[in-house]
Amino acid sequence: MENYFELKLKSISENEKFARNTVAGFLVPLDPTLSEIDDIKTAVSEAVTNCIVHGYEDVENGEIIIKVGIDGKRATITIIDNGVGIKDIEKALVPFYTTKPDSDRSGMGFTLMQSFMDEFEVYSEENKGTTIVMTKIIGNEGVHD
Ligand code: ATP
Ligand code: MG
Repeated sequence: MENYFELKLKSISENEKFARNTVAGFLVPLDPTLSEIDDIKTAVSEAVTNCIVHGYEDVENGEIIIKVGIDGKRATITIIDNGVGIKDIEKALVPFYTTKPDSDRSGMGFTLMQSFMDEFEVYSEENKGTTIVMTKIIGNEGVHD
């Protein structure tokens, strides 16, 4: 199957649930397991939350763009903000690294996205924004490499 959609959302936390449920709902025709759906929801939720709290620093007038493409069993999810960007991507990917330790952040968002998805990439430029591209192969459960 091949299909895609694009969504533009205001950067408010109320939209996080809508984003993760919309992505999950779109992927239902691929017949994912509950655990695959949970993985995808968590990854989307972490990525969208990062756009809101880091990219736009909780200023609620930013825009988040979500693109989802299906190609066979591959679901590719792209999440884009035009916010502050990430200075040092390598550092940001280290488990427990956070620039907001005071506001209840544990520094595990990127680590969760990486472990729950099959492919994961970050592109970012300071003061331009951040793009996360992640892929999940649906029906991959039980396949170990
Ligand atoms: P948690 O996700 O556990 O609540 P966290 O958001 O700090 O904590 P990560 O999601 O792993 O942890 O992100 C690590 C760091 O990368 C963040 O603290 C932030 O500095 C930076 N970062 C992540 N996403 C973005 C983004 N969209 N724009 C700017 N900086 C980001
Ligand atoms: Mg995070």
